[in-house]
Amino acid sequence: MAKYAVKAYVEPPDEALMRRFEATSAQEDATRNALLNMQSRTDTDVIDQLRSTKARLEEQLSRARQSKAEAEAHAAEAQGVLQSLSAAQTQQQAFAAQIRQRLDDRLSDATYLSKLDASFGASIAAEEAALANAVIGIPVAPPSSSGGGSSSTTTPPSSGGSTVVPHPPLTTVNGITVATSIAADLRSMLGAASAAGINLGGYGYRDINVQIQLRRQNCGTSDYAIWQMPADSCSPPTARPGLSWHEQGLAIDFQANGSFINSRSNPAFVWLAANAARFGFTNLPSEPWHWSHPA
Ligand SMILES: [Zn+2]
Repeated sequence: MAKYAVKAYVEPPDEALMRRFEATSAQEDATRNALLNMQSRTDTDVIDQLRSTKARLEEQLSRARQSKAEAEAHAAEAQGVLQSLSAAQTQQQAFAAQIRQRLDDRLSDATYLSKLDASFGASIAAEEAALANAVIGIPVAPPSSSGGGSSSTTTPPSSGGSTVVPHPPLTTVNGITVATSIAADLRSMLGAASAAGINLGGYGYRDINVQIQLRRQNCGTSDYAIWQMPADSCSPPTARPGLSWHEQGLAIDFQANGSFINSRSNPAFVWLAANAARFGFTNLPSEPWHWSHPA
């Protein structure tokens, strides 16, 4: 819209310029004819008239050229302002997308874990609310130019989420179900932790179809509502399916001695912080229970 306005601003001077010159020429032709037809005038008078007419035309042409240049300069300036405005907007949307991604992650954990441990779920929910507040009102960036659909890791099914999404190959290690691709690393890490006196348990893989059902229930049944609508637009807020590493079996919410690791001073967290990287696991310090393992 704004771009169109700028374009419209630039182009009319060309047309206006043309029209103006057509009108001016017609008028000057008429003047010239009138002058040539006046017998009482000498040739010198007529030549003088023609000269001054020519001079006036040149002056008008020069003025028109100048205003065209000015219009173009303004348009370039407006274009510059638009560009920086749109860059700032893109940056804000990218920032909001990051927060929404964390919100999705956090929400997904909270929804699932509060069923297992209500007070732990409540403590996660508090930070969730802060994240949600930060992004309220910021529009979601339009889908990437590849044309519709989510640009994220999961390709949504086309039919409103009614298709069952297949799960990755899974293996259960000491009660924790994960993608088979990381099972050996998990087994080694649990063994090392146990040898160090740390008793780890927890929850890994979650069925994406459960999350899809939650979205249908809390967000709506369209493809957009299920896969793309920001989590904070649902009631209650509900993580988008396909974004959680748990759904790929590549994240684990750890418990130590039966309780979720909720602080960085927990000995189990201290041990993981020092050792998990050796086995390919990393975490966000703000979520001491949640460890992921890129495939
Ligand atoms: Zn988690």
